Amino acid sequence: METNGKKRILIVEDEKNIAQVLAYNIKKEGYDCTCAYDGETGLTEALTGGYDLILLDIMLPRMNGFEVCEKVRLVSQVPIIFVTAREEEKDKILGLDTGADDYVTKPFSFKELLSRIRANIRRSSGEVVQARSALPAEEAAITVGELTIDTVHYSVTKGGEPIELSKKDYDFIAFLAANVGKAYSREALLEAIWGYDDYYGDIRTVDVTVCRIRNKIEKDPARPEYLLTKRGVGYFLAKH
Ligand code: CA
Repeated sequence: METNGKKRILIVEDEKNIAQVLAYNIKKEGYDCTCAYDGETGLTEALTGGYDLILLDIMLPRMNGFEVCEKVRLVSQVPIIFVTAREEEKDKILGLDTGADDYVTKPFSFKELLSRIRANIRRSSGEVVQARSALPAEEAAITVGELTIDTVHYSVTKGGEPIELSKKDYDFIAFLAANVGKAYSREALLEAIWGYDDYYGDIRTVDVTVCRIRNKIEKDPARPEYLLTKRGVGYFLAKH
């Protein structure tokens, strides 16, 4: 939903001062912005407000950010950026399949946050579609060994069995599948899949994503046959 062509951002943050300063700065950048100060209110807003992006704190009264994210994901693919207070929370986000699109760790610079907001909105509105546009239009599926990447329904199966992947994980594997056999650096992958033009990305995001995907698609994640590491370069999907 857009009003006056402005993208709409929801901030769910229980520290009112932080939320309001953030909202003020975000509005100055030309977005519409609403604040919710607890998890339950945030969830209701997220589900009914037609937002283009959600900034979600983790430690929140009445429902924590992870629960809010999970519940939103049942019905919506709106980009969600977790705003975390601690390194441990960041690890939890990366390790869990929370369905979040991104995260920033407090304290963050507003410039960094804005860069993330822009990248995530661009990607979700289809302006960053390298993973998909890399394919010829008529090609609806890519097969790599037992893996089939269905680029019409954005789904992946292995040996006919569906594999549950988040949108980001799908984008990651679809990008590599469209360029099968070619290795990409972590920086290149961050740019292609996360859409970071201004480079703030945490390289480890890529490693954790690879690890999570391996756990889902590899027979033995410790000895991958599909998603391989090219030493000194990065990652690639092996030809079969
Ligand atoms: Ca909080």
